[in-house]
Amino acid sequence: MSQYKPTIGIEIHAQLATNSKMFCGCNNDSRDALPNTNICPVCLALPGTLPVINKGAIDMAIKLAKGFNAEVARTTSFDRKNYFYPDSPKGYQITQMDQPIIKNGYVEILVGGEFKKIGIHHAHLEEDAGKLTHPDGADYSLVDFNRAGTPLTEIVSEPDIKSTEQAKRYLQEVYNIVTSLGVCNGDMEHGNFKFDLNVSISDSSTLGTRTELKNLNSFRNAERALNYEIARQIAVLESGGVIEQETRGWNDTKAVTFSQRSKEQANDYRYFPEPDLPPITLSQSYIDQVQSQITVLPIDVRKDLVNLNLNADEQDVLLAQPATIAIFKDAESALKKPELIKKAVNWLVGDYQSILATNKKPHLTGERLAELIELVESGVISSKIAKSIFADIVAGAKPSDIVAQKGLKQVSDDSELENIIKKIILDNPKPVDDYRSGNARVLGFFVGEVMKQTKGQANPSKVNQLMIKLLKE
Ligand SMILES: [Zn+2]
Repeated sequence: MSQYKPTIGIEIHAQLATNSKMFCGCNNDSRDALPNTNICPVCLALPGTLPVINKGAIDMAIKLAKGFNAEVARTTSFDRKNYFYPDSPKGYQITQMDQPIIKNGYVEILVGGEFKKIGIHHAHLEEDAGKLTHPDGADYSLVDFNRAGTPLTEIVSEPDIKSTEQAKRYLQEVYNIVTSLGVCNGDMEHGNFKFDLNVSISDSSTLGTRTELKNLNSFRNAERALNYEIARQIAVLESGGVIEQETRGWNDTKAVTFSQRSKEQANDYRYFPEPDLPPITLSQSYIDQVQSQITVLPIDVRKDLVNLNLNADEQDVLLAQPATIAIFKDAESALKKPELIKKAVNWLVGDYQSILATNKKPHLTGERLAELIELVESGVISSKIAKSIFADIVAGAKPSDIVAQKGLKQVSDDSELENIIKKIILDNPKPVDDYRSGNARVLGFFVGEVMKQTKGQANPSKVNQLMIKLLKE
């Protein structure tokens, strides 16, 4: 096998979940809107209109900086990136070139059981373009400007990523950060979270020529495209060729990358400071005030989950659901003991996920989950009963109320259990003989009978203990 090592840098475009667009008051959610209905003179760039900066987008960037362990620029400004394309009504994009709002951060990823820091060079604010569609066989294209002016943050990593696995973990981690901070809706099918991958290979300490894989929108395709591109570059070098610096696309059906544009064809965007928008100065007290609204970061939850010995898949289930993390954090502070906290996690990644598949409006709280776990722990109900009432609790019932209402308290009383067991022994002479002649396996049958007669409400360890005692008499 080859000695070539990949080096990967990633640019992520995350659409911000603000109410209105980046520079005008249009509704920023067009998922259910007809084409060209969420538009106005500003986002259509009609003559005489002026943009106004959306404060909500600035606040989201300030929050993101905390998620990325990064600095917020105290002075930040916008620039024009000039290009002509039919999806851009202005003929340019307002972006940030010289003074991005976020700089010098990092994201921690967990690979092979160890945390690794991936540098964030910067992240900046910009506006999205409209959307072009090319109807099959038609000699025209259609343009929808609903998306024109949607706020985006472009998150630019350092080239610190050294494998496909690390790239995938990094994308997942950034996704967790933007969604858990409420900054991005994370709907990848609707293009909320897209990325470009810069990849090169080298067998020395000098970096190789890189290619850029454009516009991927799923973690799985990122993995496939990177594996393909790394293998392609190795094959080119092994056969004595050279890697061209170029932009490549990903063809999902053929599972190949293909050349789109070479370096020679790269645009000169003639960037210059945006004359219609003033630079923004942010005070430290304002930054602190916005960042103080963040209560929990996904990386802290991940570290908690690692300490509870959860595997990466279980961690990802929780981390992809900000609302579930909130339940977990509340349950954690109510339960305190690690073995009980682990039980809370088991509920949340197990039964809770199956209920979520059908119940889109769950009412589970961390407090109630903790209460349920404590009811089992103190022997008031069996774990089987806990499972049977869990859906009701997710639907909003209080655990102790539902146990009282349905009369589900566990039977732990010795004399009550002894009476039941004695009767079962009398009714089943054959298994009793089997047990007494050394077949310990029939014990399971007897315990099952007790559970059946008590509708699962008997305390299993007590039943075992009493059963063995009475069978010996
Ligand atoms: Zn508008």
